[in-house]
Amino acid sequence: MQIHGKRIDFLVLWNVFKTLLVSLKITVSKKVVIKSTCLDPMCSTCGNPTAKIEIVGPNAYPQDALKWKTADYIHYDKFRNFNSNYLIYSGPGGNNGYIGDPIDLNRKAALIDAFTAPYNPIEMREQFYDMAGYCAACDAFYCSKHWSTTTSGYGKCPKGHGKSLDPHWSPDIE
Ligand SMILES: [Zn+2]
Ligand SMILES: [Zn+2]
Repeated sequence: MQIHGKRIDFLVLWNVFKTLLVSLKITVSKKVVIKSTCLDPMCSTCGNPTAKIEIVGPNAYPQDALKWKTADYIHYDKFRNFNSNYLIYSGPGGNNGYIGDPIDLNRKAALIDAFTAPYNPIEMREQFYDMAGYCAACDAFYCSKHWSTTTSGYGKCPKGHGKSLDPHWSPDIE
């Protein structure tokens, strides 16, 4: 029993030590390179970003990394494939977390193309269901506050044009 107890203590200590070592490696020797392309559209009504569309380059970190805690770096390094470009998205209809998803070069080019004026609604819809807050009738972007989104995920722009911002919403129900 005593040996068993000691072994657990040793394992606990070892895990603490390992965690400290990893934190130390990150905070002391790790070079954090922030390199990304941000395509965030602006709200036509208030000027705030309507969505966050950030493409993080290989071997790089997103802009938000400046504000991260050590635990965020550990988590990021564990799940991020540093060979790939990553897309971090957060819009009126949802988001894909702070790590995002790996994307290939074709997707990267399509994203930049879709969210660079002149805007093409079909291309934007192919990228994100909520189109990063774009209203095709106005040819303008609005933030989630100005989309006046209801709980069903249906939104109305300040000029009254309606659309679904949530992929789970079905036009047949309402
Ligand atoms: Zn707004
Ligand atoms: Zn509109």
